[in-house]
Amino acid sequence: MSTYWIQTLGCPKNQVDSDKLVGVMAADGLQPARQVEDADVVVINTCAFIEEARQESIEAILEAEQARRPGAELVVTGCLAERYGDELAASLPEVDRVAPFGVPVTLGPTGEGQPSSRFDLLELPRPRASSPWAYVKIAEGCDRNCGFCAIPSFRGKQRSRSPESILAEVEALEVSEVVLVAQDLASYGRDQGRGERRIVPLIREVADRVAWVRLLYLYPSDLTDDLVDTILATGVDYFDLSLQHVSPPLMRRMRRWGDGDRFLRRIADIRARDADATFRSNFIVGYPGEREDDHDALLRFVEEARLDWCGFFAYSEEAGTFGATLDGTVAPGLISERLAELRELQDRITAEKRAALIGRDMTVLVEEPGRARSAGEAPEIDGVITVDESLDVGSFPTVRIIEAEGPDLVGEWPVVDHADRASTRSEEVS
Ligand code: SF4
Repeated sequence: MSTYWIQTLGCPKNQVDSDKLVGVMAADGLQPARQVEDADVVVINTCAFIEEARQESIEAILEAEQARRPGAELVVTGCLAERYGDELAASLPEVDRVAPFGVPVTLGPTGEGQPSSRFDLLELPRPRASSPWAYVKIAEGCDRNCGFCAIPSFRGKQRSRSPESILAEVEALEVSEVVLVAQDLASYGRDQGRGERRIVPLIREVADRVAWVRLLYLYPSDLTDDLVDTILATGVDYFDLSLQHVSPPLMRRMRRWGDGDRFLRRIADIRARDADATFRSNFIVGYPGEREDDHDALLRFVEEARLDWCGFFAYSEEAGTFGATLDGTVAPGLISERLAELRELQDRITAEKRAALIGRDMTVLVEEPGRARSAGEAPEIDGVITVDESLDVGSFPTVRIIEAEGPDLVGEWPVVDHADRASTRSEEVS
């Protein structure tokens, strides 16, 4: 019985692709190996978004090459394979096969020759999830042209899946929480004729099937009142807004919609509807032409917006993007300084907001023994809540927050009212 071992790098969308490749390999009769050294087929699902991610992917490939047993096949797939195909194969002779999107990672049971047809990774079935939550990719590609981003050049134009295929996958996964992902999530359905977005009815359909539905990668101009109300109605009042910067002149150079004032008004409007709403965002630092004033504007925004979670990333020049044609390169040392300043400020804000939750009772999803998340934490990128190990994985207990450690919390279960505790204790004493 042939075995495989797969490593996934990059974003949740890549994780979904890996799950589907696992489904294909299982259908081909392959079994998961316990470790890379035992596998007949070693698959690295790579990321190529920015330079840092490419380096990490190359390192993972070389490590796997060292670790694999003699005769095992090393296959590279994912964004690096799609973006650099033959060039990658030429530069890494130790790799047996470079399989761009939709090219099978295994050569089928008999192992002969290059497979003839590409399959549509987006529509492949997924095996039942092994955890109580799962990412579901609802579309591939993107129709925007943000100045720093090469994704449309290798993931292509937006291609939305049919609601039927998405809902079938949601049911097949049998999870308590679905995290909807795509490069440009709120534009879902716009490519399916009549140009209207279909994210709102989709959320409602998914929410009818699972306890929690969460959305990642919301482009701010698509945050309509209808979408906000629909998200709030799911009970997972979590807004992952892809803002990238706030300074108007820099936003124009980034070819991005919006500015700090508009974002602050929208956030305040959502908080007026739900004071407990959680906000996450990502920002790029050091985009060509970023002046001290732009940086100060971002610092002021972070201070005023008091978002719950933020990621700050150094600008990476990407071949073929508008940003790569611009003057005004920011020195790496200055980028590091600005990143450190922003991260320090945000860490303080996040810690303050977490500490303010002490004493609150919260419904959480137990995602593994002793570890849970509330509606305010997305999987893998935000803090977690430590809970009683005896709580069932997949259950939704109410815990009382008794401690905060930076981004993480400690939840007490069962929730005991102090009055009850006092009376219980006095009874014990008496
Ligand atoms: S919305 Fe912009 S940043 Fe996101 S994938 Fe599309 S082009 Fe890239």
